[in-house]
Amino acid sequence: MSRFVSDKLNEISPYIPGEQPQDKKYIKLNTNENPYFTSERAVGAITKEDLLGLKRYSDPECTPLKKTIANYYGVGQNNVLITNGSDEALAFCFQAYGRCGACYADITYGFYDVFAHMYDCPAEHIPLEDDFTIDITKYFAKGKTVVIANPNAQTGIALDVGDIEKIVQHNADNIVIIDQAYVDFFGQNAIPLIKKYNNLVVVNTFSKSRSLAGARVGYIVADEHLIVDLNKVKYSFHPYNVNTISMLLAKNAMEDEDYFTQCVSKIIAAREEMSEELKKLGFTVLPSSANFVLARTDKMGGKQLYEKLKENGILVRHFSDRRIDDFVRITVGTDEETKILIKTIKNILESK
Ligand SMILES: *Cc1c(COP(=O)(O)O)cnc(C)c1O
Repeated sequence: MSRFVSDKLNEISPYIPGEQPQDKKYIKLNTNENPYFTSERAVGAITKEDLLGLKRYSDPECTPLKKTIANYYGVGQNNVLITNGSDEALAFCFQAYGRCGACYADITYGFYDVFAHMYDCPAEHIPLEDDFTIDITKYFAKGKTVVIANPNAQTGIALDVGDIEKIVQHNADNIVIIDQAYVDFFGQNAIPLIKKYNNLVVVNTFSKSRSLAGARVGYIVADEHLIVDLNKVKYSFHPYNVNTISMLLAKNAMEDEDYFTQCVSKIIAAREEMSEELKKLGFTVLPSSANFVLARTDKMGGKQLYEKLKENGILVRHFSDRRIDDFVRITVGTDEETKILIKTIKNILESK
């Protein structure tokens, strides 16, 4: 780094994205993307006029998409804020509500620590139980912002929405942020709770279940006063945060409900199939409600399995956090990809 950089930036450890290697074609099961394309109807509905319209700035309010999301969940447009991926949504939340401190699980989405550092939020890590579940009572009356990924990142384990509600009730005087990146593979959405609780912020993304990771669209649903706070952050940073084409793609994708449900059910079925196959090979597989599984075998360390799979053209993710460093995280791909994965793992373990 240069000598001009601030001390804070000097100290910070930025988020490390999963590999997106360009050297050869891998079976890519490392970043929890959707193996299926986004709806053809959504893509087909983009016109030349839309592209020529790019000479204008995008609508800072993303009105058409906001309307679609509000209708979809039966909330008001003033309960919705559109962001450039949900990472931006989380960044806004940490800026607005993190100064009083933030707490989240020791094993969870790695970006929370980065945002906490970046925006000067004292962070507390609440250890998951030995079986990687959350004991909700450890999240009661925290007096600081609570952040929960549900289903949780890295483990895939989910809390029932009833438990989420209890956490929200026991934190009436601070904000609870629920990061729902994987919620559609689980099925219990916390969004309806925003009508009852004015301290709940729900963060969602089009990157996973709606196959638009590269379009970068996320959104926040919350009480209207919280949306006012978060809009103040947005308009102090980047009013035109979402580009017109991504906004239209997201809107169109949300309007193609049949295709969406089909893709999600295929992935859920493939997740169950993959978990069963891994268990047959002697793996411990955490019960996932997401589009990935965290799995380990006694026969080989997590890092070594990751490396062997990479040699064989399959990318999975390995994390060096002590509690999960003997696991690999495998994204659910197509049925064909799952078959190749299982066969390859079998070969690797047999040829050891
Ligand atoms: C993937 C992911 C996100 C970020 O998604 P965006 O692509 O920025 O919308 C946020 N939280 C969790 C837990 C994730 O896994």
